[in-house]
Amino acid sequence: MKFEKKTISGILLIIVSILILIVPNILLNDSQGILNLCLTIISKICLFLFLGLVLLRLTRSFFWSYLILGTAYLLSSIIEISNIILLDHYITADNITSLLNASKSEVQEFYHLFRVYLVVPAVLIAAFIFIVIKYKSIAYNIKNQKLIIPLALIALVISIPVSFLRIYHSDKALSGKGLIDCTLRIDYLMDHPFNILNESYVFVKNSIRARKYKAQHDNFSFGILNQSDTQKPKLVVFIIGERMRYANWSINGYNRETSPNLEKIKNLISFKKNYSNSNFTYGSIPLIITQATPKDPTLAYSQKTIVTLFKEAGYETNWISSQYLFDIINEKNTPDHLYPLYARQHTDMDIIPLFDSVLNKKTPKNRLIIINMLGGHGGVPAKFNVFNPNDSHEDHPVTLSNAAIFINTYDNMMLFQDYVLSEITKMTERQNVSSVVMFTADHGCNLFDNGKALFGYGSANPTEKETHVPMFISVSDKYIENNHNKYKNLLDHRDLLTTNNNLFYSLADLANIKYKSFVKQQSISDPSFVEFPSRFVRADNKVFEFKNVKDNELNSGLAENASTKEDNTSKK
Ligand SMILES: [Zn+2]
Repeated sequence: MKFEKKTISGILLIIVSILILIVPNILLNDSQGILNLCLTIISKICLFLFLGLVLLRLTRSFFWSYLILGTAYLLSSIIEISNIILLDHYITADNITSLLNASKSEVQEFYHLFRVYLVVPAVLIAAFIFIVIKYKSIAYNIKNQKLIIPLALIALVISIPVSFLRIYHSDKALSGKGLIDCTLRIDYLMDHPFNILNESYVFVKNSIRARKYKAQHDNFSFGILNQSDTQKPKLVVFIIGERMRYANWSINGYNRETSPNLEKIKNLISFKKNYSNSNFTYGSIPLIITQATPKDPTLAYSQKTIVTLFKEAGYETNWISSQYLFDIINEKNTPDHLYPLYARQHTDMDIIPLFDSVLNKKTPKNRLIIINMLGGHGGVPAKFNVFNPNDSHEDHPVTLSNAAIFINTYDNMMLFQDYVLSEITKMTERQNVSSVVMFTADHGCNLFDNGKALFGYGSANPTEKETHVPMFISVSDKYIENNHNKYKNLLDHRDLLTTNNNLFYSLADLANIKYKSFVKQQSISDPSFVEFPSRFVRADNKVFEFKNVKDNELNSGLAENASTKEDNTSKK
């Protein structure tokens, strides 16, 4: 009886001692349903046991094993819990950058706002010290030495399949990525306690890359050739959408009315075959706002962005940022004015009044306004939830049988984006100046197309739907008066194959900015624009080539037959 009591209290001690160290795993999964939460806890306890038993075998001491492993877990725990309270996700490389660059007043403000939460780490540390002392009284039995490694392996063998099961029941199962790879990355590498190490590695890698290209980048200049040219539009607006499919807007032929507002805008040209250069945000954004290409992605770091081009050309530059993108492109400090909508709870609807206030600020200069939207990652105001049933009131599991729900949810988002984009375009036109609005998206997504259980984006083999993105250009009457030929060229080229690579050159050309490395054949508004025989997509560290297909082949899926070649640039 006495032995049993001792065993039970020993087991309880082990469970509590692990539970206090896996709080971040629990916090991030507490809203994911009870089954998911249980699978997470089982997997994480087994992972801790695996690591703990290996240490026990080495140190032959419960006290030292728990002290060493527990300290590492506790450090990660405190950092991750703080980040979850602040931002609702694990720490990222960018958060590390912000943390290291925080000013004294930012630290004081943070302390003032969040000091109440400091009680959580304080309680964890106190509990940890209490348990470490308890472990001191538990003697290590050398007779069990041979059992430890098999036990550790059993713990690992339980942890991985349980995690696999969790991922298998999530939307990741339909993302087109390898499931084992997904499990190891999402549930181990990017999860507590390894996430902080992984993100520190990414932070260091980014810093090394920035340093490697720093001299080239800092000395880079576009070299404007027509500085005193007065034929530049007063206002240029460049909008980057998020997770937007070409196919789901009625302006592009979709059978649901998802873009009633854009359709009413005169002088708006929607391009038919515009493709993104990557199928995920981090891969795509640098290739949109620089001259970098899927085959030559490092130009994104050795050269400068479209913001600098317009700055060099005498424009006042503004950036309205609804989604945080600046850890991808290191561009936070370049615009003359940055409007960080991402820093508070908001939807893309908040862009409208902010854009209005930017327009109303008087400036003698021409103006570039870049807007990057939350798009398919953001909330949709209730009045746009017109396609039912959808995912706005309760979460549904992402399964093929729920396809209709996710398509409705997606179409509501497209309808909302149509409203925001058309408002921005109309407000620009109302300025009654020579103006250009250009819109595209970073990538599209899969939506159970052709009855396939494929949902989301970033798949290892990029599909047509992940990269076929909407792109439109809208110009004011005043602009057409002065640039009739450019407008005509846009109309002539609206059905040709274009990619987000063309946007940099086209935006420069539409703004009548001439500079040294400008390639006129790549500008859609130039009469010499040539359609490429292929387009390229950078995904999964490879470059995929897609042959330009005729319209009748596009719908038959032939566009998805890609040839790949191993990417050497990233290995250099
Ligand atoms: Zn994205």
